[in-house]
Amino acid sequence: MNMNLGVVRHDWDKKEVEELFNLPFNDLLFKAQVVHRQHFDPNEVQVSTLLSIKTGACPEDCKYCPQSGHYNTGLEKEKLMQVEAVLTKAKQAKEKGSSRFCMGAAWKHPSDKDLPYVLEMVKGVKELGLETCMTLGMLRDDQAQELADAGLDYYNHNLDTSPDFYDKIITTRSYQDRLDTLQHVRDAGMKICSGGIIGMGERASDRIGLLVQLANLPQQPESVPINMLVKVKGTPLEDVEDVDPFDFIRCIAVARIMMPKSHVRLSAGRESMSDEMQALTFMAGANSIFYGECLLTTPNPEAHKDMQLFKRLGLRPEQRIEESDETQEAVLNQAIVKDQEAKNPMFYEASATSAGDSVQH
Ligand code: SF4
Repeated sequence: MNMNLGVVRHDWDKKEVEELFNLPFNDLLFKAQVVHRQHFDPNEVQVSTLLSIKTGACPEDCKYCPQSGHYNTGLEKEKLMQVEAVLTKAKQAKEKGSSRFCMGAAWKHPSDKDLPYVLEMVKGVKELGLETCMTLGMLRDDQAQELADAGLDYYNHNLDTSPDFYDKIITTRSYQDRLDTLQHVRDAGMKICSGGIIGMGERASDRIGLLVQLANLPQQPESVPINMLVKVKGTPLEDVEDVDPFDFIRCIAVARIMMPKSHVRLSAGRESMSDEMQALTFMAGANSIFYGECLLTTPNPEAHKDMQLFKRLGLRPEQRIEESDETQEAVLNQAIVKDQEAKNPMFYEASATSAGDSVQH
């Protein structure tokens, strides 16, 4: 199997990706590690914090999502947060060592009425010295440009699954709508965070189809979240069959091989993973996580547990390139020590909203 390992390619075909998936587990992980070490420090993990700035009552019908207004999941709805409240949360996230602050709103797309507030949030978070990321649904080209001009670094918009399986999961926006939004984000000069969800009842060929779509984009996403479905009561996927943990780890490894320079993010579903499984995902090439006690509205492993796991595995939080000093690492190390002394939960509570969805959009 000669795949030019470690080279960014945009011509992946399904057959060769299938061959990767079918490799013996150890061979696949070895290949993923080799690729990972060509482009990244294998002991660094990028750490982001996520805040839900507007929760629930979304008009879209994503079948995995408790924020959809189509399902009754008991989620407490919240209007768009005040700018100042968002900045307070961002400050706390920075103090706890996050390098990126991600803000998510459950919208089909941002309205012209709400966008000015969102732009203020971007500017304010940026001034704190954090990288900024938003997920607000579909964007027109002019909205993407306004966000970029305000200083937004990343825009998250997931493809979710393969084009073939997509209409089993979402009917209110098309796959092409998603690709168009990603193109507007690129045209405006922002970086892309885009990935998908494993465990929605898709076939192996759909996992392949998703990764082929992502890798063959004109420019690969800088950040690729691979989510494991969080089954939420009241959503149509509440009883779907569990994904085999090894199949999930294989997806991470194949994503690492196909998108060698992207950060592969271990995202929703981490709460239900054992420490050993998480360690295997890092070995397979995952090098980004969210921390905080919630994702948009679903529980995330308690943040102090994350830091203990980092310590046990000898992992370090990745530094922002712009930061010339070691502030971020020092802050995290201090937090680890303090936590061990006080045995108190630490780290920022990313969202105070009730338990609910995975971090999708
Ligand atoms: S995933 Fe995003 S777009 Fe879909 S229902 Fe949930 S909040 Fe709305």
